[in-house]
Amino acid sequence: MTRIKIVLSLFCFVLLVSCSEKKSVESMNDEQLRAYADELAHKFIIADGHVDFPERLKEKKIVLTEETKSIVLSDIGGEFDYERSKKGGLTSPFMSIYIPSSYQKQNDWGKTFADSLINNVLAIVSLFPDKFALANTPSEVEANFKAGKISLPMGMENGAPIGNDLANVKYFYDRGIRYITLTHSKDNQICDSSGDTTRTWGGLSPFGREVVTEMNRVGIMVDISHVDDSTFYQVMKHTKVPCIASHSSCRAFAPTVRRDMTDDMIKKLGENGGVMMINYYNAFIDSAVVNRNKVNREKLNALLIEKGIAATDALAKPIIEQFKKENPSLKSDINMVVNHIDRVVQLAGIDHVGIGSDFDGVDGDLPTGLEDVSTYPNLIYTLLKRGYTEEDIEKICYKNLWRVWNAVEQTASGS
Ligand SMILES: [Zn+2]
Repeated sequence: MTRIKIVLSLFCFVLLVSCSEKKSVESMNDEQLRAYADELAHKFIIADGHVDFPERLKEKKIVLTEETKSIVLSDIGGEFDYERSKKGGLTSPFMSIYIPSSYQKQNDWGKTFADSLINNVLAIVSLFPDKFALANTPSEVEANFKAGKISLPMGMENGAPIGNDLANVKYFYDRGIRYITLTHSKDNQICDSSGDTTRTWGGLSPFGREVVTEMNRVGIMVDISHVDDSTFYQVMKHTKVPCIASHSSCRAFAPTVRRDMTDDMIKKLGENGGVMMINYYNAFIDSAVVNRNKVNREKLNALLIEKGIAATDALAKPIIEQFKKENPSLKSDINMVVNHIDRVVQLAGIDHVGIGSDFDGVDGDLPTGLEDVSTYPNLIYTLLKRGYTEEDIEKICYKNLWRVWNAVEQTASGS
């Protein structure tokens, strides 16, 4: 064979292999595609940016001990447990250390409360050392994954526990916190929230700027979920490293939800090198749900006024429960969540999107097909059907977050 013929046949062979790989997904029947999605869910690390399991334990007043630990293995009451994580391929859920805004006051910033939630996560690992492990870096998650263990990295939702003392940023780093959501639903000492109308600081407070600098220095990812738009833009200017949105959706699909990100914010986060992890909550992803909720709220208020009962009155509870049964809120579905992923890809690119379900944080108000941690294969199946490649899906599952997390770790100057 001449040299040209060899090169040509080699080229044809490569073309054939790549075509047949591509065709293999297209030619799969539904059952084969589901099996392939399940295989990928277990082949890749799945890093979910936001799982509120510690909050659910707190609500149920459960401190984990030998007597109470079975809730971690199998608890059909919530959306996260070991058995369903294994089924769904979930290997790196960020445990949310959620601090309600009621702690944003001078006499109690919620530091003790945060510590109690962190202790409960540490207890999971000490009670099940063969099943769970802590993870402070992407490489630690990878080592745990190879050992068949689920990693439990931690993110703190609300910077309130930092109080007015910058040293607390390092304190929480040392306790295992690897991202901090600057605030929750109210303005705090760090910044303004999308859930508040006070506009206390017009974005970041002077102390909040120091907090972002200190998080960059220490190696904690800055999470811009929940913050006001003004805060977001100021963080983008101020941070020296890429940021995350641990659980945020696109405002384009729910225009009245200020908690969601605008197209321009999504582009800016992409330019920052960051990653936006999509929140599944029905009311954040679908304006039809938002509208139905609004109508239901108005009907319920009218009913209570008619009966002369305040919503906070104990007598109102059975009326509200009955109303909710008769007027259920709409459910969105898995395709809507993938629409959000598509939009981030169109605006910022495939390198800037991830998963941030908010499981255990939204009272089970989740889209059909994404009901709990066993459903990641459904998401991957839907992504495959939309033409996402294995490489794309790997990025969405964890690699995009890894890029940010590694950059934050590498830029940090330590103690
Ligand atoms: Zn949240």
